Amino acid sequence: MYNITRSPWVMHYDGSSCNGCDIEVLACLTPVYDAERFGIINTGDPMQADILLVTGGINTQNAPIVKQLYDQMSDPKVVVAVGVCACTGGVFKDCYNILGGADQVIPVDVYVPGCAARPQAIIDGIVKGIGIFQERLEKLEKAEGQKSEEKEEAGKEE
Ligand code: SF4
Repeated sequence: MYNITRSPWVMHYDGSSCNGCDIEVLACLTPVYDAERFGIINTGDPMQADILLVTGGINTQNAPIVKQLYDQMSDPKVVVAVGVCACTGGVFKDCYNILGGADQVIPVDVYVPGCAARPQAIIDGIVKGIGIFQERLEKLEKAEGQKSEEKEEAGKEE
């Protein structure tokens, strides 16, 4: 188990899904599967979110929205593609307006297969995402610590 030092905030965006995966994402938040036991908090605000869960494929209309949501999230951030549609375009991939999976517009860190993705698999994907988030957070904090040490040193020399 990862050593989580803060509650990861998760934002869910539904691309062009059939809603099957969305229902399973919702199921994860019910007491039956209880994703909140991992400290997860569900948010609708990209500026507060650490992990972006994408369901459904990317089409010409939602591509700029997905990109904008991702860009609004602060670093570090992690993307989890939930269900085969978000992974590759899935059953809709040959539709005239489908570009493919979420990785057509943003970098995806974790791919959760399934049609629909099972709640257990989604939670597993989120936990993997938390691990990646934690690693990135530590790297970022280390880099920021080094920067402020260098600044301090430069200040002493002046
Ligand atoms: S993977 Fe299956 S259940 Fe999920 S959005 Fe696509 S078609 Fe629907």
